[in-house]
Amino acid sequence: MPMPCPSCKTPLALDLTFIIKSPVCVCPGCGVILDFSVNDEIKEKYSDAMKSISDIKSKYKNIAKFG
Ligand SMILES: [Zn+2]
Repeated sequence: MPMPCPSCKTPLALDLTFIIKSPVCVCPGCGVILDFSVNDEIKEKYSDAMKSISDIKSKYKNIAKFG
């Protein structure tokens, strides 16, 4: 999920994992400080995604039992 800088629209090589681990970073294009630590919406999407992944993993786990 590429995110453009909200200030200069430079595409930022950030993914949700990076944002959760490093919620504050500096845009390489314009130097604006990007603080994602207050963005609860992003965190919610991240935990939803993580939940989907663990759901998929548990499905495969069940399939493996019958294999
Ligand atoms: Zn920028």
